[in-house]
Amino acid sequence: MICREATQAISQSFDSKLPRLKRLDLAIHTMLCISCRRFQRQMVELHQNFEKLGDEVTSDIMFELPVISRERMTAELKQLPNSAD
Ligand SMILES: [Zn+2]
Repeated sequence: MICREATQAISQSFDSKLPRLKRLDLAIHTMLCISCRRFQRQMVELHQNFEKLGDEVTSDIMFELPVISRERMTAELKQLPNSAD
């Protein structure tokens, strides 16, 4: 495996599972090649950051939406005429 193939395989490994033989080739290459090992580490870190970012965005939506709708509901309830009379 050459470096270009190795970096391609590294990128690919985040999108889909690599064939066993390719994974083995890549493992051997990254073991011997420092620049591809560094590239792989950077990709892993990048991927983890994206996942973290995704979690934050999702949790923001999950927590903010109910707050907004609760506040709006309270405001709208106050505007309603008093039905007790
Ligand atoms: Zn390499």
